[in-house]
Amino acid sequence: MKIETMLSKLGYQEKIELYHQLEMELRTLESERLIREKLDEVLECPYCHSRNIRGHGKYKGRKRFKCLSCTRTFNILSETSGAGLKKLELFRQYARMALESIPVRTAARTLGVNAKTITTWRTRILTAFDEENGQKL
Ligand SMILES: [Zn+2]
Repeated sequence: MKIETMLSKLGYQEKIELYHQLEMELRTLESERLIREKLDEVLECPYCHSRNIRGHGKYKGRKRFKCLSCTRTFNILSETSGAGLKKLELFRQYARMALESIPVRTAARTLGVNAKTITTWRTRILTAFDEENGQKL
């Protein structure tokens, strides 16, 4: 059955419940993904964007880095704390829109986000929905 057909059969209360469940799962997913991305990619200084960085021990269990260009220290979360959270908030807003079957283009325009990004989010939401539904069957 198509996801859209399944969604259309859900009642209002069920949609709300699904949304809350999705939101919790996706929040975890999103922060894990952000952290993994930061670990995998070649790190650069969040202040001056220099790639001339070195490991600088650990702080509260998190690896620290020191920029050899501007001498500031940072960890993998330094960069995501601002931009990352804003994106996460947009993602949550889109999750709500997806449950209301709002088209990708409309959502992209409303949120001011690239349509390609919305498509990626949509796939992730539908996958989560699929897994959730599979468990119940
Ligand atoms: Zn720097």
